[in-house]
Amino acid sequence: MAYNNDNGGGFEPRKMYQGNWKCAKCGAEITELPFEPDPEKSDRLMCRDCFREKKQAFRRGPRPFRR
Ligand SMILES: [Zn+2]
Repeated sequence: MAYNNDNGGGFEPRKMYQGNWKCAKCGAEITELPFEPDPEKSDRLMCRDCFREKKQAFRRGPRPFRR
């Protein structure tokens, strides 16, 4: 059996975690996250915008991996 949860489909509902955090980069308020934040890293959380920016910067990277 491949499926363990009984969500009853191939897609899982997006669970959002409610809370009260602050973006470590721009200082914006974060009230919900698509993942459960690690309490130890709660001071390093980033808002959606900064997260996306970081992800893109990472993709661009200093050195492209595939060549
Ligand atoms: Zn931010």
